[in-house]
Amino acid sequence: MFEISADYSFAAGHALRGYKGKCENVHGHNYRIQVIVAGEKLDSTGLLMDFVDLRGAIKGVAERLDHRFLNDLAPFDTLNPSAENLAQYFCEQLQGPIGANGLRVSQVTVWETDVTSATYRP
Ligand SMILES: [Zn+2]
Repeated sequence: MFEISADYSFAAGHALRGYKGKCENVHGHNYRIQVIVAGEKLDSTGLLMDFVDLRGAIKGVAERLDHRFLNDLAPFDTLNPSAENLAQYFCEQLQGPIGANGLRVSQVTVWETDVTSATYRP
């Protein structure tokens, strides 16, 4: 099995509902997303998936969230916009386009800061 990964960054605001502490207040992050794609077969070029296409797919999901207040956007208007829920959201949104190539998203990590992250594996 092969795995490749690509990182992508975007900025957004959020507030964690029901959290007892500072993160209940509106604040922002420069989020970093890392997506790992897995598959068995390489193409004739020797690639699992072109990094340009992977970053393009991540950008396609991130652009809707970039420079927005996440709590205003579905599904985060009801689901708390935690790093954990963002990781699952990216994984589920990317599974369709990446699955169309016979590959799968095996892991998504979302960093809220340089030293704190959440990882989702389907
Ligand atoms: Zn936060």
